[in-house]
Amino acid sequence: MMSKGLIRQVVKERIGILLDLARKELKNHEDRSKRYIKLIKKLVTRYNFRLPKAIKRRFCKKCNTIWVHGYNLKVRLRSKSKFIEYICNCGYKRRFPLG
Ligand SMILES: [Zn+2]
Repeated sequence: MMSKGLIRQVVKERIGILLDLARKELKNHEDRSKRYIKLIKKLVTRYNFRLPKAIKRRFCKKCNTIWVHGYNLKVRLRSKSKFIEYICNCGYKRRFPLG
């Protein structure tokens, strides 16, 4: 049986590969791209994996689209309240703390 640490490592690697694929397919095969993001969500649920912050900021939880700055994502900086707001093309908004 694989140890927990090894499973984590494998899941993380898979997620990295899926993100790359989703990014590559976004413009020509959006459906396929979304399927990769759905697979990531499945992996996360199945292995009870906590997504690192950097990965959480890479796709929309609502419409399963990988975010590409200037293409399907708007970023607003709210320096007064110290957070950054990501606005997806589907209208979904997500806030992340600055820094
Ligand atoms: Zn979205």
